[in-house]
Amino acid sequence: MSGLDTLPSLRDALESHGLWAKKAFGQHFLLDLNVTRKIARLAQVGESDHVIEVGPGPGGLTRALLETGAKVTAIEKDERFQPLLAEVAAVAPSLTLVFDDALKADEAAIAGGQPAHIVSNLPYNVGTPLLIKWLTGPWTPASMTLMFQREVADRITEGPGDDAYGRLAVIVQATCRAQRVLDAPARAFTPPPKVDSAVVRLEPHVERPSAERLDALQQITAAAFGQRRKMLRSSLKLMGGESLILDAGIDPQARAEVIPVEGFLALADAWLAHR
Ligand code: SAM
Repeated sequence: MSGLDTLPSLRDALESHGLWAKKAFGQHFLLDLNVTRKIARLAQVGESDHVIEVGPGPGGLTRALLETGAKVTAIEKDERFQPLLAEVAAVAPSLTLVFDDALKADEAAIAGGQPAHIVSNLPYNVGTPLLIKWLTGPWTPASMTLMFQREVADRITEGPGDDAYGRLAVIVQATCRAQRVLDAPARAFTPPPKVDSAVVRLEPHVERPSAERLDALQQITAAAFGQRRKMLRSSLKLMGGESLILDAGIDPQARAEVIPVEGFLALADAWLAHR
């Protein structure tokens, strides 16, 4: 029997600490360990891995990650959870707790120069900014296994011509292989959110675009998708218009929504060369 088996159920732990979900922290808990174990399996982590978990809350996903034998550093903003999570750390020495805002966290320092994986049932209000930080910031995770609202998962994984294809899909897919790996209905959470969710697995490409290229990609996609129904020659007029688009080998009459990720990278390169 591992120390984790001696812990009370998640519901009992919440009740005995007088804790409830707070909307301001985007709190929708996974209290079914079968679901959190499934997410830990999808994360493909094990004994030799270091996982950074954002928002452990009552610790359901944390317990499942610890069961794999991985070392876990959990970053939680809501300090009300300190006593409850300290009980988990007391039986699982490979758990380190950090009470801080994950947006401000220095993951490179936490990882200590070694690879680390991110696994999280993300708070819906900061999910996208955190993802952008991990995709474009100075530190790159070894992999990310993340629960998002279904609509955000679509905006991450869909391709050209799909309704949800836009800036986020381009930035994600320019930096990672992205796959929707699990659907989670709203009723899987306590309290249930208004919308369904999905887990996305992201594996960063070995060759990540340089910071300069990513910055250019962000600017090009902002202009192109800012007016997604317009032809590129019009939406990119201020960035070089037709000559920039022809340099990238793209039809100036095309619209942003049909351009594949490689096309946007070519546009970013042409723009860097034009400046
Ligand atoms: N992992 C738990 C689970 O699956 O039951 C809780 C998930 S809940 C959707 C999101 C968690 O993120 C909450 O515990 C919340 O307090 C925490 N959180 C919200 N904003 C945060 C931030 N900026 N930094 C770190 N944690 C945050």
